[in-house]
Amino acid sequence: MREEACMADDPAKECGMAEHIAGLTNGSEQTAAGRQKETAEPGRSADRTDMERYSRQIRFAPIGPEGQRRLLEASVLIVGAGALGASLAQHMARAGVGRIRIVDRDFVEPSNLQRQTLFDEEDARLALPKAAAAAAKLRRINSGIAIEEHVADVTSANAAALAEGVQLVLDGTDNAATRLLMSDVCFALGIPFLYGGAVGASGMSAALVPGETACLRCLIGGDQEAADAGTCETEGVISPIVELVAALQAAEALKWLTGRRESLRRTWISASLWPSEWREWRLPGPSRDCAVCGRAKPPAESGLPMERAEAGLKRLAVREEASAAPSPRPTAGPIRAAVLCGRDTVQLTLDHPLPLERIEERLRADGCIITRNPWLIRAETGDGRRFVVFRGEGRVLVQGVSDAEEAVRGLTELLHQPNEEGVTVR
Ligand SMILES: [Zn+2]
Repeated sequence: MREEACMADDPAKECGMAEHIAGLTNGSEQTAAGRQKETAEPGRSADRTDMERYSRQIRFAPIGPEGQRRLLEASVLIVGAGALGASLAQHMARAGVGRIRIVDRDFVEPSNLQRQTLFDEEDARLALPKAAAAAAKLRRINSGIAIEEHVADVTSANAAALAEGVQLVLDGTDNAATRLLMSDVCFALGIPFLYGGAVGASGMSAALVPGETACLRCLIGGDQEAADAGTCETEGVISPIVELVAALQAAEALKWLTGRRESLRRTWISASLWPSEWREWRLPGPSRDCAVCGRAKPPAESGLPMERAEAGLKRLAVREEASAAPSPRPTAGPIRAAVLCGRDTVQLTLDHPLPLERIEERLRADGCIITRNPWLIRAETGDGRRFVVFRGEGRVLVQGVSDAEEAVRGLTELLHQPNEEGVTVR
């Protein structure tokens, strides 16, 4: 049996990884699903050190000292810490956005390093969750701001809570389902949604503002399957287009957060770098017939009155209920399955956390190659499949399988063990 990481009672002290992970856990509790960790004081005003640190963007007239003060007091949610999300997060951290919340469900792999600029080979070797690895890098880039990381899947159950209290949501996701969900939530809460997407050498971006523009559902349609056609899984992606799209989103974020709302680009940009092509259309206004943008109220200057947020979320809940249809995705009992963009990975979600230690024991006994860190275990089986089981969540990524059904079958085999109490799939 080979091991990527040796066994120890405290996973953070395992060989070779202690130093790398020390920067991530920073002496505080481990970060798992939904739990968060912060540094610095949020929402502080600019002092003399800040004036020096941010001097080049303060000298840029449209921002100035007042814009910088607003940035330091601002808070954003970045959904996804992959290629787009990591680039967006870096722009926001370097600009001095006071509070950055970042959420991602995935872990770092060697194939990410070609374009996901916050990660390195050590992150991939240790199979670190992207949200945790990104947060550690962001803290090294800027220790004067607050970073919250969430190692979690974004679902209708947690999306509104993740967006609570932020002034802006930046789209760094890789799939239409999450984008449409976040657009719905943003329009219900009155928060601008900075959409961005890249595939191949092409990308798109638009700043969607409740009460002023159409929502994402009106712009790309509600058909997730069609919207996901031509994902990075089939067409690949080159890093320059990711940076271009992230730059388009980050520029609009700076305008909004510094209070320069009149400067916002009111267009949908569709660009290709190879072959070179640039197209731009004026964004349509809210559609009267749309339940998402038709009744959305514009974002408030400062914060969102609670009653308005609640009314918006109530409308969203009614809409979800009305559109609830049998899931086209294969399921087995309480296991939900979703095929992830970009590689042969299926995400399985159970309604209860999994006993990691017992699963690890079983996988070791089977001769699997195990990688363990404070957030997850990754096991490589003899037949080339990989299981990644997240601590504190009922979530497993299965790689090396051809479809969701095979993934469910693999997990069911893994969990249905005789004399393994509590490790069963109901
Ligand atoms: Zn709409």
